[in-house]
Amino acid sequence: MSDHDTDQPITRVQVRGHTRDVPLKRYDLVCQFCHTQATVYRYPGQPPRFCSEACQADARMAADRERKAMQRQRQQAERAATGVVVHRGRPRKP
Ligand SMILES: [Zn+2]
Repeated sequence: MSDHDTDQPITRVQVRGHTRDVPLKRYDLVCQFCHTQATVYRYPGQPPRFCSEACQADARMAADRERKAMQRQRQQAERAATGVVVHRGRPRKP
């Protein structure tokens, strides 16, 4: 008896000391990061949004970068608005 003969992928999980084979749910999706149509198998529950773990990691990193960039922009805008920016030198006036 072999697990590899079935076309339905399963994963083995530990349940209270014994192992159980759990069938994975098939999701057909378009990756939100690389926009590739993909079929992934996951535990039933929240449907995945990415074609692979790599894309998920990359997407998280990209979102992180974007958030930081926005944070920086906001801080700069706040600083400009509150006048906390330290100007180097004096503004020249004729
Ligand atoms: Zn992808």
